[in-house]
Amino acid sequence: MIQAVLFDLDGTLLDRDISIKQFVAAQYDRLITHLSYIPKAAYTSRFIELDCRGHVWKDKVYQELVAEFEIKELSWQTLLQDYETQFQGHCVPFPFLVEVLSGLKQQGHLLGIVSNGLGTFQSRAIEGLGIQDYFEAILISEIEQVRKPQVEIFHRAVKRLGVTAKNTVFIGDHPEADITGAKNAEMKAIWKRSLYWQDAKEADAIIDELNEIPLILRQFESSCQTASIVHEPDR
Ligand SMILES: [Mg+2]
Repeated sequence: MIQAVLFDLDGTLLDRDISIKQFVAAQYDRLITHLSYIPKAAYTSRFIELDCRGHVWKDKVYQELVAEFEIKELSWQTLLQDYETQFQGHCVPFPFLVEVLSGLKQQGHLLGIVSNGLGTFQSRAIEGLGIQDYFEAILISEIEQVRKPQVEIFHRAVKRLGVTAKNTVFIGDHPEADITGAKNAEMKAIWKRSLYWQDAKEADAIIDELNEIPLILRQFESSCQTASIVHEPDR
C-alpha cells in the first residue's frame, strides 16, 4: 500500500524553464531605466545561458552579466536581490499540478517535497506556486544539510511523515539525484521525463505529465497486492 508520495520541485512540479524566462523578461522591464541600452533579447538569453538550468547560482550569473554588459547603474547584488525576492511571482506550474495534488490528498496519501537548493528561495518558489498547504513535509537541502541523491534526506522525509520507504513513491526529473537516490533509499521511483536526460534506467515508471500519476500509483498498488497473494503460501 502506498502511504506517501514525495516530489522533487524544479522540473517536476515547477516548470523552471518557463518560469525563469518569464522572470528575466520581467526583470528587464522592471529595471529598464538602467538597462535600456542593452537589447532585451541579449539580456534575457545571456542570463538563461549563464544560469545553466539552475546549476550556476545567481551571484555568479549577475557578476558576469554586470561585467559583460558593463552595467554601471546597478550592482550584481541589487540584481541578485531582485531575483531572490521577485522570482516567486513568476513561478509557473506544470499542467494539472493542483488537480493532481488535491486528488492524491483525497485518496489519503501524505505528500512531501524533497528539493536540492537554498532554503528561503525554494520555500518562496513553493509559495509562488501556492501549493505549500498540500505538503506534510518539505525538505530543502540547504536547511537539512544533506542533498539528494544521499539516502539520508530520503529517509529523513519518510521519518517525518511517519511512513516507511517501501510504501513511498518518489517522483522527480533528475535520473541520479531523484531516481537513483530514491531507489537506494528503497522507495519506488517515477521519472518525470525531461529533455535534458536520455533516460532513467532505474525508474519503476516514466511519466510525461503529472496527471499520469494516479494510474501509476494504482498499478503499483495492484502489483503489491499480486505479490502478497503470490507469497501467501510461504507465510
Ligand atoms: Mg528537478
